[in-house]
Amino acid sequence: MSFADVLNQEVPKKILDGALRKDRLASTYLFCGEVGIGKWALALELAKAINCQSNENQVCDDCLSCRKIDKLIHPDVKMIFPVPSVKTPEETERFRKEKIKDPYAIVKFEKNVNIPVDQIRQMQKELDLKPFEAKRKVVIITEVENMHPASANSLLKTLEEPPPDSHLILTTTDINRLLPTVVSRCQQIRFGKIPSSLIEKRLKQNYRVPEKKASLYAKISNGSLGKAIELVQGEKENIRQDAMGLIKTALEEKTVEIIERIDELQNKWDRNSILEMFEFLISLFRDIYLTLETSCSQKLINHDIASELVKLSEKFKRQNKIEEALKAIDQIRMECKTRNVNLKLALLTLCFQLRDLSQNKPIYYNVRSGSIG
Ligand SMILES: [Zn+2]
Repeated sequence: MSFADVLNQEVPKKILDGALRKDRLASTYLFCGEVGIGKWALALELAKAINCQSNENQVCDDCLSCRKIDKLIHPDVKMIFPVPSVKTPEETERFRKEKIKDPYAIVKFEKNVNIPVDQIRQMQKELDLKPFEAKRKVVIITEVENMHPASANSLLKTLEEPPPDSHLILTTTDINRLLPTVVSRCQQIRFGKIPSSLIEKRLKQNYRVPEKKASLYAKISNGSLGKAIELVQGEKENIRQDAMGLIKTALEEKTVEIIERIDELQNKWDRNSILEMFEFLISLFRDIYLTLETSCSQKLINHDIASELVKLSEKFKRQNKIEEALKAIDQIRMECKTRNVNLKLALLTLCFQLRDLSQNKPIYYNVRSGSIG
């Protein structure tokens, strides 16, 4: 990414760009605005611009510094974010992974998160040291409204006497919940809502959301790209669950129930969503196959439902039938993608194929000719 990839927010970008060029960056910024509108994304780009090794005051995205910051592993760029009171390394790692994948992701933890004072004290110790490899140290503290009062008081010391060669970027969705003494020591930058036309365009380009849905989600999300992405992901999870349900129906139910289930799916989802369901079917069957090879569920794409996948793998009497099932799904998926195949017929064919393979029978349905026999 670069400043240009941060959607909208022309005023914040202009202020920061000007300060970078004149080498007059404030020691502490406070980015204010709603969730999912690009505060984190721009904070990260600013950290990159401050330290980019190739471009003066800009982001090359290619030098070691830019790449390390993108992966959130730069020793001089520190992230502090609210965590549940009983913090686990997995949760911290989840925040990191989701933010690397998408800087607009809204990462949620269980309730009652806060920024504990030991994190602020640790940060202060680190700021006392010279940068390891960067030109200047950068600390990004998100959702500062969730700071423990002791943390806010401790942070004040740093804001009053900012350490040299370092910048703090605080972000908040609710400036009214901050101590006035904290607010007064920062340069405030206000972020606005993103116009829905820009969100719609981004959803289509970067998240491959079809036109109608992109338009709908852009409107519902009320100016927040992060919320729009949540809607897309929520729908994806629904489709994945329906794909899983379809496999179970195919392997466990009678023909009548299979037909009913497919009618339901056809009423519920449009063509693009059903095509996406095929992608999930493939990833689920890859995992079913993998459960035969490994007992480490972390290696599975769908590791959250590993035990269900193991149960399904047991329904196949022979390993090579699972391989055949994968091929069958892939073949039907390609037929549906490249030709105007009747989707109901395609799903029916697929279910009967899966059922027969699990019973160790040969398969010979052909979705293209439209014959099920
Ligand atoms: Zn760079």
